[in-house]
Amino acid sequence: MISYGRQTIEQDDIDAVVRALKSDWLTQGPLIEEFEKALATFVGAKYAVVFSNGTTALQAAYFAAGLGKNDEIIVPAITFAATSNAALWLNAKPVFVDVDPKSGNIDPTNLEKSINSKTKILAPVDYAGHPVDHSSVLEIAKKRGLIVIEDACHALGAQWKGKPVGSFSDMTVFSFHPLKSITTGEGGAVVTNNSEYYDRLTRFRHHGIERKKFKRTSAGPWYHEMQDLGLNARLTDFQSALGLSQLSKLPVFLKKRKAIADRYLEAFAKESGLHCVVPNPGDQSAWHLFAIVLNDSTMRSKLIDELKNNGIGSQVHYIPVYRHPYYEDLGYPKGLCPKAEMFSESVLSLPIYPTLSEADQKKVISTVKSVLNTKHESRLHR
Ligand SMILES: *Cc1c(COP(=O)(O)O)cnc(C)c1O
Repeated sequence: MISYGRQTIEQDDIDAVVRALKSDWLTQGPLIEEFEKALATFVGAKYAVVFSNGTTALQAAYFAAGLGKNDEIIVPAITFAATSNAALWLNAKPVFVDVDPKSGNIDPTNLEKSINSKTKILAPVDYAGHPVDHSSVLEIAKKRGLIVIEDACHALGAQWKGKPVGSFSDMTVFSFHPLKSITTGEGGAVVTNNSEYYDRLTRFRHHGIERKKFKRTSAGPWYHEMQDLGLNARLTDFQSALGLSQLSKLPVFLKKRKAIADRYLEAFAKESGLHCVVPNPGDQSAWHLFAIVLNDSTMRSKLIDELKNNGIGSQVHYIPVYRHPYYEDLGYPKGLCPKAEMFSESVLSLPIYPTLSEADQKKVISTVKSVLNTKHESRLHR
């Protein structure tokens, strides 16, 4: 089975984890900080804090920004539910904004209309690894005094206008789930240049407990105090070992993903039945997903079936978050973001991952083409 995404684990990754398992530390050891330093350097940020997964990383970032009851946070309608779920856990209200159906990314022209006096955070998502139009987002945030927390769970290694994703938003969140750019099994991170955010992020990860900057007088070297309501959202040392090993190979992974994307783009350039979701000119995507949008959404289930018959997995990214039953029960209505709903009905993610072979990719391409062209023929014969 060719899945739509998969991890790349090699012998050196395994060796790194085994070494960590044989060390004195399983969790809270030296590899965590080493991984954080390497990650911060890679994305051009001052600080990185790693977490148990991308979802706890998001929640920590929202918490560090002070998001709470009566606050609103703006998120795109097309994203993984975690982007807005993390805000619900802090009792804040997610406000969904429609997307540009070409890119699947938040449409800045819709953004400003959704801002009011309760808005605290803008949370753009770099869909498929393609950087959002960040100049508009950052400009609006500056003008309205909002904090930008970029959900870059798809976009580790991407570049916006030559700047690495992770270097320009107030905080940027990454995931190390097996399908993402690099993996630690489960894992995530927040990067920032702000030392106050950094302090709150590290506290949140460890029950809100502070070990250096006290409110009361320290009673001795053992002293610590709980200042916030945090979680246990720590990454382990052996996961950090895997993260370090994976990070060293990220440039290679990115190159391979781009080569696959380029082959798809070339193969589908003259296909009239679909368009490919691509990054803005001048930007470098992390190519987490290769998403196509069908002109005729009624063809999608046939395409999914035909791919499956050929041993090829595909997936829909995403159902607009507010269309899930849980959100519907909260009162978000159908039709809230019409372009996102249309996008969701016609989009499909095709296999892309560093070890996808050219032969397997050819099979994907020919299956897509044959399904779309059958449709043309049946119309001609009608
Ligand atoms: C993967 C992902 C997350 C959550 O990350 P986990 O590590 O799976 O918790 C959040 N947002 C987006 C857009 C994602 O793709």
